[in-house]
Amino acid sequence: MTFESLGLHASVLKALTESGYTEPTPVQAQAVPAGIAGRDMMVSSQTGSGKTAAFMLPALHKFAVQADEQPMGGRTVNQEMQSARARGERPRFRAAQPKMLVLTPTRELALQVTTSTDKYGAFMRRVKAVSILGGMPYPKQMQLLSRNPEILVATPGRLIDHMESGKIDFSQLQILVLDEADRMLDMGFIDDIEKIVANTPETRQTMLFSATLDGVVGNMAKRITKDPLIIQIASSATKHENIQQCVHFVDDLSHKNRMLDHLLRDETMDQAVIFTATKRDADTIADRLNIAGFAAAALHGDMHQGARNRTLDGLRRGQIRVLVATDVAARGIDVPGITHVVNYDLPKFAEDYVHRIGRTGRAGRKGIAVSLVNHAESMNVKRIERFIKQLIPVNVIEGLEPKRTAAPRSNKPNGWRPGDNRSGNGGRPGQRTFSKPGNGPRREGSAYGKGPRTGDAGSQRRSFGER
Ligand code: AMP
Repeated sequence: MTFESLGLHASVLKALTESGYTEPTPVQAQAVPAGIAGRDMMVSSQTGSGKTAAFMLPALHKFAVQADEQPMGGRTVNQEMQSARARGERPRFRAAQPKMLVLTPTRELALQVTTSTDKYGAFMRRVKAVSILGGMPYPKQMQLLSRNPEILVATPGRLIDHMESGKIDFSQLQILVLDEADRMLDMGFIDDIEKIVANTPETRQTMLFSATLDGVVGNMAKRITKDPLIIQIASSATKHENIQQCVHFVDDLSHKNRMLDHLLRDETMDQAVIFTATKRDADTIADRLNIAGFAAAALHGDMHQGARNRTLDGLRRGQIRVLVATDVAARGIDVPGITHVVNYDLPKFAEDYVHRIGRTGRAGRKGIAVSLVNHAESMNVKRIERFIKQLIPVNVIEGLEPKRTAAPRSNKPNGWRPGDNRSGNGGRPGQRTFSKPGNGPRREGSAYGKGPRTGDAGSQRRSFGER
């Protein structure tokens, strides 16, 4: 199947060719024609399956067709304010009237969606996408809104603030997308979502994307969609077949740090994301890795948005080779160069394991996901295995064997061992090690706004007991 056969507008097709996309992914093959036909849909697909293009391509197609039909286009709110000033009148503030709204659980995912939209819309005459996020200064957001963007990509909390203060008017909204809807509900955004949806026209097209369509998310999806097309994608990305997973048992922190050092010296490693349970550990480990000569940086919810963006930019450009991150901050990261994910600490929720390892093996590449686990955490590994319906092989690196043998398990390593790729000096006892990072757990959260509606993932998750 080709993108041409999906009936997309020439400007969108050109952007896809420029992006190097040759054929639609399974979710795109189903969602794009339905989206062009104006259908509502409920889609179960994971990040990595090409879901952003699945909802963005039909939307951009629609706007491109509308632009062809109205060649002059409308004036921006900004232009109107400027001409009012030129006439000596006091400009009246007019609310932004977006045509499309994409709601995402986190700022990182919102920025990712905005970047993808810029890419897919690069050859359109006028389509502007902006992110409205918790943590971003209000004046900057007012400036973005004054351009009357066609597409808003937002986290729910901050969006509600602007909606309630009359800065955004959804009366012209044509398309509503809920991206990672299950995640937004997990994070306690249900009331915000309902409120936003209630402010949009009944005539809108609604597309909901979620890892699962069961339970609460399924019920909400049914409430807000009309005669939806249900698309269930069990792609290899969903099953993470392209990611080799393994567990290494460690005796103590010093053993864990030696193991980490060894893994990062793997010749096949291009870029890695290391997940820690706490922000303090993310900072400490990043500092120590830098001292040890790795180009490392931390990413967590205590960092200002500007610093987070700079870090992600450095990662995308390859200046940062090792990112040490907490769950909340790392969600939505889409950098093809990430070859390795290391769970320095296991995630608190089994579902987060899937999101973590999905940072590697992007866009059809192969990836490696290693979890460093102490023996007391065997039950947590089992919980993850039950969730992913798959056993994770236990691997042992020569010279870094745990003193305690792991609890008996029926599975065998799947043939791949990180030790096979070991570089000359890596992985031997006595090599450089890191001392115990941090003095104790700190909760993940956000420095931006302490209230319940910051639109920031960190603050929302605090109530769910993230360490
Ligand atoms: P997503 O699931 O939207 O996060 O997309 C995952 C990755 O796949 C991103 O790096 C996209 O740029 C890439 N991608 C999306 N659609 C295609 C396609 N049809 N062909 C190749 N890569 C794609």
